[in-house]
Amino acid sequence: DETGKVFLLEKPDINFSDVGGMEREKQEIDLKIIKPLQFPELYKAYGKKAGGGILLYGPPGCGKTYLAKATAGQIQAEFINVGIHDVLDMWIGNSEKNLHSLFELARQCKPCVLFFDEVDALGANRNTMRSSGASHLINQFLSEMDGIAADNENLLIIGATNAPWHLDPAFRRPGRFDRIIFVEPPNTQGREDILQLQLKDKPVANVDYAALAKATTGYSGADLKAIIDIAVEEKLLEALQKGVQLPITQKELLKAAKTHKATTREW
Ligand code: ATP
Repeated sequence: DETGKVFLLEKPDINFSDVGGMEREKQEIDLKIIKPLQFPELYKAYGKKAGGGILLYGPPGCGKTYLAKATAGQIQAEFINVGIHDVLDMWIGNSEKNLHSLFELARQCKPCVLFFDEVDALGANRNTMRSSGASHLINQFLSEMDGIAADNENLLIIGATNAPWHLDPAFRRPGRFDRIIFVEPPNTQGREDILQLQLKDKPVANVDYAALAKATTGYSGADLKAIIDIAVEEKLLEALQKGVQLPITQKELLKAAKTHKATTREW
C-alpha cells in the first residue's frame, strides 16, 4: 500500500522458494546478510563485521528486484522499493529532509530491506552532479548509509544496477555497497525452475519444462514471464471462444517463445 508519494512499503508475500535458480546468489545473500542478523555474536567472535550494503548487478529482467524482495520475505521484513528517480525528485524539492525521512522510516519499521533500484543513476557522473548542485544529495545518501552501517541491526540496504562501472567508487567503500553479487541470466536448470514456478498455479497439460528450458537459451526471468503471459492470453481467448477452460500446452509456449525473443543475449 502507498504510504506516500515517494515510496512503497510492503510486506512481501514471496521468499527464496519463489525465486527460480539463483542458488549461488541466494547462498551469498544468506551468508552475507541474513546469517549475520541471525547470529550476530558468532560473526563478531570471528571478527566478521555485519552491516554494509549489497549491490546486485546484472542484465535487466534477471530478477534483481525480485531477489531483493524475496530476501525481505525470507526474514519477514518490510520491503521499501525506492526508484532512483524518486530520490532524484527529492533533490528538486526538499531533498535532504525527504531522504532523511526515508531512512528514518526504514529505521522505524525494522526489520526492513531498503532497496534502491538503478543506484548507478545516483552515483554516476558525480562531477556533473556536483556542478549542478546535487553533490549534497549524494553526500547525504552516503552519510545515511554510513549511519545505517554504524547501527545496522535489522536494516538491510540493497542496491541494483545494470552498470556497476558507472557507480562512483565512493559508493563501494566499506560499510556502503561493499558486497557485490552478480545476478546472471538463468542457466538451463534455472530456466526450468523459473518456468515451473511461474506456471504452478495455472492450468497446464503436457508441458515439457526441460525442453522448454533448452529452447529458451538467453531468456531472462522477465522474458520467461513474458512468454507465459503471451501463451496465457492466447489460451484464455480460445477458452472464451469455446466456453470451456483449456490447459496451456507446450505448443503455445513454444510459439510464444518465437514471438518474444531473449533480451540478454548480448550480455
Ligand atoms: P531490472 O534490472 O529491469 O529492474 P530486474 O533484474 O530487477 O530487472 P525483476 O524486475 O526482478 O528483474 O524481474 C522481472 C520479473 O521476472 C519478476 O517480477 C519475476 O516475475 C520474474 N523473474 C525474474 N527472475 C525470476 C526468478 N529467478 N524466479 C522467478 N521469477 C523471476
